Amino acid sequence: MKSVPKIFLKSIVLLLSLCILTGCSRQPVSYSATDIGMGTVISQTLYTTGEDETANIIALIRKLEEDELSRRISGSEVAGLNVSAPGVPVKLSEELWEELLLLQEVSLQSGGAFDITLGSLIVLWNIDGQALTDNGEIHIPTEEEIAGALERSGYEKILLQDGCITLKDGVQLDLGAAGKGIACDRIGDYLKETDVSGAVISVGGSIVTYGKKPDGSPWQVGIVNPEDTSRLLGTLSLAGEWYISTSGDYERYIEVDGIRYHHILDPASGYPAESGLRSVTVVCNSGILSDALSTACFVLGWEEGMKLAARFGAETVFVDREGNIHLSEGMKDIFKQAEE
Ligand code: AMP
Ligand code: MG
Repeated sequence: MKSVPKIFLKSIVLLLSLCILTGCSRQPVSYSATDIGMGTVISQTLYTTGEDETANIIALIRKLEEDELSRRISGSEVAGLNVSAPGVPVKLSEELWEELLLLQEVSLQSGGAFDITLGSLIVLWNIDGQALTDNGEIHIPTEEEIAGALERSGYEKILLQDGCITLKDGVQLDLGAAGKGIACDRIGDYLKETDVSGAVISVGGSIVTYGKKPDGSPWQVGIVNPEDTSRLLGTLSLAGEWYISTSGDYERYIEVDGIRYHHILDPASGYPAESGLRSVTVVCNSGILSDALSTACFVLGWEEGMKLAARFGAETVFVDREGNIHLSEGMKDIFKQAEE
């Protein structure tokens, strides 16, 4: 057998040492970005041995909003459904079909507390705007207006069959309660195709944690104190891929004559939900579920909400109006309250 030339062996040793010193043991580099998208703030921190992915992630979120979810952007799939002829089946994209099946399940399981057909009511309350009339005054909807909008809503007025949706009675879809969670799911899927080794990304009140921090320690995700939004209520300690969503009455609201009108509506009354809660945080392995459940739980209140979330394998933190914190069993290992 021929012996391997010395020069060849030497170059392999040299290459191996170079590899250990540089490329092969490359440490992830961290990138951060803050942008506006989906009508909210998007913050990203990610660690990668490859290129900076933050711009790609923003582009992905904007595309999701423009092509699929937005009620206000006329070219989107949801906006198209809202102007489709009532009672006529419309073919859905595969993604929206899957999402709507799941959201309808949350509606069913929550007894209608979660409802994506509240479009007319949401427009009436001007939740996307400032609830101002033409002359600049805040308009609180009248009982008659609310009753009218409720006639054009109800999750049972949606029929999902063979990849198609049929909307009855002029129902208008609004996916505002699940869209940010859907964005987090898409981000989670995208990250798996990249060299990103760890990331924590928030899209408004919905957050995805992914992979590992370079030092291997768990992600620390802060929960806002609803009594004083400049402070933290506590932190969640999470390792790996998790989806976290918070719904709170401090996120979007107007105050008139000392009454706070916030953006989470009770489909039973047509008014902002009054279930004795200030905020709900839901943690589970799906963005769409964590977001839909946080809204549903806010409407249901902490006892019913905790039961609902448990049925979907989700853990919860509730803050009630007296400032009490209610934790689900599994949450006790995840949540650490901030010191006063
Ligand atoms: P979130 O902040 O995730 O709780 O979602 C609140 C948003 O979802 C609102 O701004 C509305 O667009 C919409 N929404 C309000 N109330 C409900 C409800 N009961 N079910 C489903 N969507 C709702
Ligand atoms: Mg939600």
